[in-house]
Amino acid sequence: MKYNWDLKDIKKARNELRLLYLKEKDKMKREFLESVLNKVEIVITEEQLDDRSSKVIYNYKERLIDMESSFITYEDDYELVSTFHSIIAVYHDKIDTLDGIIEEKIGLDSSYGKITGAKISNDEAMSLTNLFYKKHMKSLYPIFKMFYANRGCSVRFKKNLNNDVMADSFYIPFLDRYFINCLKSKDITKAFNLIHEYGHIIYSYINPQEFYNPRYFMFSELSAIFPELVAYYENDNNFDETQLLFELYLMMTSFYGHSTQLVLHKPVISLWHSHKEQLSKKFFKELDYFYDTDRDLFDSLLDTYIDDQGAYIISYMAAIELLHIYKRDKRKALKLFEDILRLPYEENLFMFINQELKLGENLEEEVVSTIDKLTLALKRGK
Ligand SMILES: [Zn+2]
Repeated sequence: MKYNWDLKDIKKARNELRLLYLKEKDKMKREFLESVLNKVEIVITEEQLDDRSSKVIYNYKERLIDMESSFITYEDDYELVSTFHSIIAVYHDKIDTLDGIIEEKIGLDSSYGKITGAKISNDEAMSLTNLFYKKHMKSLYPIFKMFYANRGCSVRFKKNLNNDVMADSFYIPFLDRYFINCLKSKDITKAFNLIHEYGHIIYSYINPQEFYNPRYFMFSELSAIFPELVAYYENDNNFDETQLLFELYLMMTSFYGHSTQLVLHKPVISLWHSHKEQLSKKFFKELDYFYDTDRDLFDSLLDTYIDDQGAYIISYMAAIELLHIYKRDKRKALKLFEDILRLPYEENLFMFINQELKLGENLEEEVVSTIDKLTLALKRGK
């Protein structure tokens, strides 16, 4: 099958939305349509820029002000990220050692697929995604199936994606239209990326407000990360176990890296406050002194956002707890997962999740088991 969509498809969708907007009488619906239209316009602008970097680089002061305000808005979320960080930080040395083994055996920035040699086509990746939702997410399958039927004009495989992501997606309510970008790799990770993105699409369909709410919603990655974790766990296709462990490890350590940046936000802000007047050379000098850092590291620290990378961490914490339940009682975990997806956005989802899942409770077990199993597998030379 051919998979493709382009700018004119998004523009066509935008025009259809405009017509709906003009006809709409209900005030609430009009407002929502307007926010959808605004987001579609942003996507169109980014699409026109295409591979050129669309990221706006603010100066240090603007970025610090930005960081400070999110520190207030997302106070509870920073707490959770800090919990996540302190659980994994205990194993920092083990992670360092394992990273060294990986560098030696696989090479940095290399894909594990080079070792196994396993290749899958785009069609195979799509059909594995279909089989996964059919077999393991039965109650959500009718929604998936509806979207899957339109995969040809909704998914495209690209050599390069903006912002170094493996895949991303965009959903337009009212039209039930969606667009997925997926990295054109030969590796089996393509199937897991698709399972992830379809999780987002299903959630946006059930709860479109979530996708379009201005305050970033910290559990929005749960809809994608949980199915991805279940797919690794079930391994229906008998993929190389070491590769799956490797992918799980990469996921965990990339979130750990982000959490390290995020926990430094607080001290950076207080340092900034005490040096506001001389914010320039002295500030950076002090920073170097305190954190043994340099400008590059400071840049990445400022460009790590709680309402972006933090959402992955928090969703991952919830997904790990759900997976823990899943391993003992699939039905219970899937029911809870669906309850979370279906809970109206207006309700306090944070409270609901906190009642049902103790975030962080089983994280350590997961971290230790992933590190130990992967270390063993790589040492055996598998
Ligand atoms: Zn995602």
